[in-house]
Amino acid sequence: MDCLFCKIAAGQIPSNKVYEDDQFLVFHDIQPAAPTHVLIIPKKHIATMNDVAAEDLAMIGEMHKVAQNAAKKLGISESGYRLINNCGPDSGQAVYHIHYHLLGGAKLGALTG
Ligand code: C5P
Repeated sequence: MDCLFCKIAAGQIPSNKVYEDDQFLVFHDIQPAAPTHVLIIPKKHIATMNDVAAEDLAMIGEMHKVAQNAAKKLGISESGYRLINNCGPDSGQAVYHIHYHLLGGAKLGALTG
C-alpha cells in the first residue's frame, strides 16, 4: 500500500520518534505549527475517522492514552495542549492515514472554521 504514514510506521521512512510500541508511533511533525507538534498514528492503516470500525474502537481509545502520555513526556501536560484530527477534504487532511496532531508549548490561537 502506498501510504506515507504506513512507511513511517514500518521504519521505511525515518521520523523523529517520541514514542513507539506495537500499535502506535508518535513522532515530530516535519512542519511544526506550534513549539511542540507531534503526530500520533496507529500502525494499522485506517484512512480517515470515517473509516474507524467497531473493531477499532478499543485501539482508538488507547490512542488517547498514548496522546496523554506523550503530552507528559513532552512537558506540556499541565500547561495544556490541543489534540486534532483532520478528516477529509474540507479539513485539509493531507495524509490519508488516521492521525492526531498534538500541539502545545505556547498559548494557541482560537480555532477557526
Ligand atoms: O492532518 P493532515 O493530514 O493535514 O496532517 C499531515 C501532517 O503530516 C502535516 O502536519 C505534515 O507536516 C505532516 N507530515 C510529516 N512528515 C511527513 C509528511 C507530512 O510530519 N513526511
